[in-house]
Amino acid sequence: MSILEVENINTYYGQSHILHDLSLSVEEGSLCALIGRNGAGKTTTLRSIIGSQNPKSGTVKFKGTDITNNEPHETSQLGISIIPEHRRMFPELTVEENLRLGHMGQEITEDRVSELTNQVFEYFPRLEERLDQQAGQMSGGEQQMLAIARGLLSDPDLLLIDEPTEGLMPTLVEKLRDILTRISDEGITILLVEQNVELAFDISDHAYVIDEGENRVDGPSETLKEDEEIKDRYLALG
Ligand code: ATP
Repeated sequence: MSILEVENINTYYGQSHILHDLSLSVEEGSLCALIGRNGAGKTTTLRSIIGSQNPKSGTVKFKGTDITNNEPHETSQLGISIIPEHRRMFPELTVEENLRLGHMGQEITEDRVSELTNQVFEYFPRLEERLDQQAGQMSGGEQQMLAIARGLLSDPDLLLIDEPTEGLMPTLVEKLRDILTRISDEGITILLVEQNVELAFDISDHAYVIDEGENRVDGPSETLKEDEEIKDRYLALG
């Protein structure tokens, strides 16, 4: 069963028509990758889903409910969490304060908050050691971990993650690969935008390749991974 259905969306920035009849469907519990070269429209797709850039036409459905024209705070309350590109957080606030923002405004019981908190500290023990540190003073890798932890604290059913490995050292990329797989194994559905195409194909079940705001190819990741033509044509890896 699909948890997210995006059907023929057209999204604009002012007069610029960015997404052209773009469609995708994400199975509940799966890890789905959305890939394509710079400027292909990946971030715009995530923004169209959460409602920070509503499509002009087409529909977005989450668990069967039409959320096409929702505002971001509404989609968040329904159970969609986004970890944006460049790990946006509050650099002046401490790690603990940033984490608290993750569940603020959500209808979550105290018990569930402590359960989620324990879970994120198990994924990222470093954060527990650094609760009082200002987020802005942490390394890029630690900030990425904090951004993911904060996203998980809203107790999402669907996690949208935009280029989490960008700018990270290879050892951290490996750690992140492991964490994303574990989050997925916990049953959280993930839609992952990733420039590291090898990693995206490796950890995802299904992948969508988009270019110039349009669908190009999609299929099981292990099949697409072997297709050199896709890499040459749409991913500029050749
Ligand atoms: P990247 O990997 O570079 O982030 P992307 O696939 O995520 O690429 P988008 O960020 O969705 O691509 O951008 C798609 C197109 O929309 C690009 O041509 C970009 O220049 C344009 N664009 C993005 N944000 C805006 C904006 N706020 N106003 C106008 N145009 C924008």
